[in-house]
Amino acid sequence: MYNQILKNIFGYRICAGCNSAICESRKINSLDGYWHMDCFRCRACNQPIDGLREQFASCGRYPYHRSCYRPKCDVCKNIVPSNPLGSLTNPFWKQEACPSHAHDGTPRCTCCFRLQPRRTKGYVDLHDANRKLCPECMDSAIMVTNKCQPLYAEIHQFYEGLHMPVNKRVPLLLVEYDQLYAMVSNKTLDIKGVCVRHMESTINIVTRQHTTPEKRTRPFKLTLDHGIVSGILILFGLPRILSGFLIAHEMMHAWMNLSGYQPMSEEVEEGISQVMGHMWLECELSSSRNGKWSQFERKLGEFFKFQVEVSPCPIYGNGFRKGHQAVQKYGLKKTLQHMRRTGNFPF
Ligand SMILES: [Zn+2]
Ligand SMILES: [Zn+2]
Ligand SMILES: [Zn+2]
Ligand SMILES: [Zn+2]
Ligand SMILES: [Zn+2]
Repeated sequence: MYNQILKNIFGYRICAGCNSAICESRKINSLDGYWHMDCFRCRACNQPIDGLREQFASCGRYPYHRSCYRPKCDVCKNIVPSNPLGSLTNPFWKQEACPSHAHDGTPRCTCCFRLQPRRTKGYVDLHDANRKLCPECMDSAIMVTNKCQPLYAEIHQFYEGLHMPVNKRVPLLLVEYDQLYAMVSNKTLDIKGVCVRHMESTINIVTRQHTTPEKRTRPFKLTLDHGIVSGILILFGLPRILSGFLIAHEMMHAWMNLSGYQPMSEEVEEGISQVMGHMWLECELSSSRNGKWSQFERKLGEFFKFQVEVSPCPIYGNGFRKGHQAVQKYGLKKTLQHMRRTGNFPF
């Protein structure tokens, strides 16, 4: 009220920062208001901004140093607080979020890793080891074993096209998380598929599209009818393009085993399998068969390719990079011949 009177009587401007009259002649006119030079401060670090000369960012009515500016959070729509640990940025999807959402129960898609924005619905709980899917990943998710067989047949053809046929019809089965991890030796790795070798066992496979875990599986007997490989297991509820990548990866283990390759180091064996999965993705994404993959599936495919390429894992990441380099340099056939002889990549 007093401010209004001041302004009315003396013609002073009122500072948008401190709400008192600006008597000085030097003032800043910005962001729909007038400011004392000293009141025009960065909302993040509270240091003054030279609003007359310096470039600055703004959000709402507040100025920020460009270096201090924090983007809006995709989850809660507030400004992402500046934090020495940084925000939860997902550079591929360009999602920015407050660090707190990593621990506050905000659902995160297990495939694309995007967080669910507040006040939106549609993230699906698979009721399987806390796995959740965003609506776009859910759109193409393969939920039951028989729905995955056409894709499996296509990947058989992909290997035939490379003159690497997998002649044995090794069963491809979709399973829940616990069942998969029961078959994995290194349980610290983030694994979504496995090629089961040297084992006869009864496992539960997903055959019914039920949301409750009790009703969706039935027992299946893995046998060694097919040689030393008894089956390929993939997690159920993964987008089609990710399921395809995993099948292409696991099929390489099966092919090497059935072709009599001697055991290799994990880095070499996983590395070349990643190379094959990556190669399959590349072929699918560059193929001109329009309409086979939706726009989102293509984007997701690019995301998985990117993840394979930059993975920090010493086994999967380094293995891929060495294998990829070898295949670029010598071609797939020569690389495999060398691996068969020496158990290592050619350098
Ligand atoms: Zn002021
Ligand atoms: Zn600042
Ligand atoms: Zn937030
Ligand atoms: Zn997703
Ligand atoms: Zn593998």
